[in-house]
Amino acid sequence: MPPVRFDPTGGQMTEECRRNHAHKNGGIKMLKKIALEEHYDSPGLWASGPHELMKKDYFEAVQERLKNIDLRIEDMDRNGIETYILSLAQPGIEGVCDAGTAAAKAKEMNDYCAEKMVAKYPTRLRAFACIPLQDPAQGARELERAVKELGFVGALINGYTNIGDVNTAQYLDEPQVEVFWAKVEELGVPVYLHPRIPLPNQQRIYEGYPGLLDSAWAFGVETATHAVRLILSGLFDRHPGLRVILGHLGEGLTFTLPRLEHRLRHTKKELHGAHEKAPTEYLRKNFYLTTSGTFRSQALLDTILEVGADHILFSVDSPYETPDELAPWFDACPISENDRQKIGRDNARALFGL
Ligand code: MN
Repeated sequence: MPPVRFDPTGGQMTEECRRNHAHKNGGIKMLKKIALEEHYDSPGLWASGPHELMKKDYFEAVQERLKNIDLRIEDMDRNGIETYILSLAQPGIEGVCDAGTAAAKAKEMNDYCAEKMVAKYPTRLRAFACIPLQDPAQGARELERAVKELGFVGALINGYTNIGDVNTAQYLDEPQVEVFWAKVEELGVPVYLHPRIPLPNQQRIYEGYPGLLDSAWAFGVETATHAVRLILSGLFDRHPGLRVILGHLGEGLTFTLPRLEHRLRHTKKELHGAHEKAPTEYLRKNFYLTTSGTFRSQALLDTILEVGADHILFSVDSPYETPDELAPWFDACPISENDRQKIGRDNARALFGL
């Protein structure tokens, strides 16, 4: 039971009343939450780059927080969050076209995150590794180094990886990436599949509306389609122990994958990959979905109905989103206290062995 911070009835308030008061007066918080889509950046890479789509004041505040870990701890303290699992901001290493440069930068950024951020607040911070998938065998080695030597809890991959130039992509279901997945399965760590902006030569549908190119819209389309590729490829039949995390309550898949499954019944088998089971079965078994950036009770309830509370985890998507908005919503949203405890903390502890 979460502690009460403010209770005008002197302890006589029902749980429901406390929840209803939470937004208005800070009456209650779930404490010790764990959040896992929380980004950082560094002057050494400046992975997130200049962001011409964003308003200046918003993006300056974001940039400050990407680099200032002390501010992030203050944000967490204010919102009942015990642990952030950090990851490099998109497009990150995946956007580095040269394989040698990507390998060197990935090592540099993982070391930077471990030494300058996690080591400063070892009881509050953990990290996902960034991975130079331009050379998948090198990517597998960097994952192993980050997990075994730096204590990282898994990897976060920002969508497709550029190979040689900005219009060439490698997706995670392609045969050459198999060596990476074999290492993931061997190490037993989850992989967070995070969005990035569509390939420059595949943005025609957004012409005239460039504000749709990132988190407002295209991020979700990109990442949902990438996740469908993983499902249809048979990756989870070859490696049934893999656990892939999606943000933004599953990037719409809880709503759209049942229709995909329904319609693919009538499509020639050789036209939709090598998967052995129904697509929704993989979504329920191999995927975990986070609340990052989606503080919408209706959508959360739908997600619980589709995959169950055991496969949903609290996250913010900071600093692009603020826990000052997301945490009060989560602390008061209409789910059972058992589910709040699972989603807010216990599922992450189990998934990452925290
Ligand atoms: Mn994010």
